[in-house]
Amino acid sequence: MWFRRDLRLGDNPALLAAIDAGDEIVPVFILDPKLISATGSKRLAYLAQSLHALDESLDSSLHVMVGDQVDVLKELMSRYAATSVHISAEYEPYGAARDARVEAAGIPLVRTGSPYAVAPGRVLKPSDATPYKVYTPFYRAWCLHGWRKPADTPTKIKLVTPSPTDRNFPEWKMPADAIVTAAGEKAALERWKTFQKSALQNYDVARNMAGIDGTSKLSAHLKWGEIHPRTLLVNLGDSKAHDTFRKEIAWREFYADVLFNNPHTEKDYYSAKFSEMRYDKPDSKFDAWKQGLTGYPFVDAAMRQLVREGWMHNRTRMVVASFLVKDLHLEWQLGADYFQEHLVDFDVASNAHGWQWTAGSGTDASPYYRVFNPIEQGKRFDENGDYIRKYVPELAHLSAAEIHEPWLFLDGYSHGYPQRIVDHATERLESLARLQEIKADKPLDPRV
Ligand SMILES: Cc1cc2nc3c(=O)[nH]c(=O)nc-3n(C[C@H](O)[C@H](O)[C@H](O)COP(=O)(O)OP(=O)(O)OC[C@H]3O[C@@H](n4cnc5c(N)ncnc54)[C@H](O)[C@@H]3O)c2cc1C
Repeated sequence: MWFRRDLRLGDNPALLAAIDAGDEIVPVFILDPKLISATGSKRLAYLAQSLHALDESLDSSLHVMVGDQVDVLKELMSRYAATSVHISAEYEPYGAARDARVEAAGIPLVRTGSPYAVAPGRVLKPSDATPYKVYTPFYRAWCLHGWRKPADTPTKIKLVTPSPTDRNFPEWKMPADAIVTAAGEKAALERWKTFQKSALQNYDVARNMAGIDGTSKLSAHLKWGEIHPRTLLVNLGDSKAHDTFRKEIAWREFYADVLFNNPHTEKDYYSAKFSEMRYDKPDSKFDAWKQGLTGYPFVDAAMRQLVREGWMHNRTRMVVASFLVKDLHLEWQLGADYFQEHLVDFDVASNAHGWQWTAGSGTDASPYYRVFNPIEQGKRFDENGDYIRKYVPELAHLSAAEIHEPWLFLDGYSHGYPQRIVDHATERLESLARLQEIKADKPLDPRV
């Protein structure tokens, strides 16, 4: 059983298939230098913790191997006389290509299940069997398609005992100042239970409020497959709150489907015309954005949350993404790469398409001309300023009425908070002017 993004025992059809196929199981995780080099310290430390958690539930039998996947799997197959290698299918470009290469090298991969309730590529328009490009009809068709019930948790697994040389657990430590959710299947199930009791009933209202614990915070668990979306979906009913939560799970599935059908959009514009837009080159303003020093309190709080927690609230992900693209006029990929470095829940499809949606170049697109106002967003979704106060101590002395616009108050800057790096109203107009330049009916600006 080759574990990758499915670090759990419960609701894991690939594991059940492995159990059915043989007498004993060889559970293995292979450290991939290519992925490691693209992963920031918080996500690596989380993965290390998750591997330990998985190992604990496998009675210390997890093989953690280093090396090329083909070499490692061939060696293990011959050592244990294994006849098949069980996996949960991967659909994003890197994982799918890796699995195809492993298979081409003669390793008999058996794919059972995927990280999704409905595997990418399955939901097609009934009219012409092509993929959906817009979320809402996808959602309807996804619901109609339906999904299986969660798979049983195996009660007993016969496991081989690894030798000490097969136990190459990485030493990645969480940075000292990081505050990141605990990893592992048990932590995921506990979080799901707590969320159902505490916040799910009010999710449709509370999910947008950045300063409260109103969302599930299951994204890192879902990313690493410590919990499967089926396990969540089976507990949802028909209330508005439950329906809203189901719709968010469906966004993850939609973006996986879109990336599967358009693999180039991992790094490239989904709507090609946006590649012709006039963008600026990253400079000190980009650094200020990364460091949470733009002078816009809601943006800065969010960027500091990202660095500290490896997670950011969905509302502020949209606000900071809009700020990067439309106030700083930078390409979305710069922001997506920075998110990739810091997010513990980094998911190639949700990240690329979350960015493109906000940048106006994605599916469905929130149209480009809908520019998020970082001040009004803060007032609306962090009314008391609690979110800002938590991450931006230089503003903690300000009241709810003051904290969103420190420039209006005498002591707004008395604790070292920086001045605004740009004027939002001016940059909004500039971004709209640049949009005008790429509109089909207008000639491109001669400055391009
Ligand atoms: C610019 C940008 C980048 C993003 N990058 C990522 C990423 O790398 N990884 C990631 O998992 N999500 C990403 N998202 C989506 C979303 O912000 C997070 O999934 C969500 O904030 C995670 O918090 P939660 O688990 O508490 O979500 P909840 O509100 O509790 O939602 C439950 C689950 O639904 C899924 N979900 C919710 N909203 C979205 C969404 N808009 N798109 C896709 N899936 C969603 C997630 O799996 C989430 O865990 C991004 C959004 C934007 C705007």
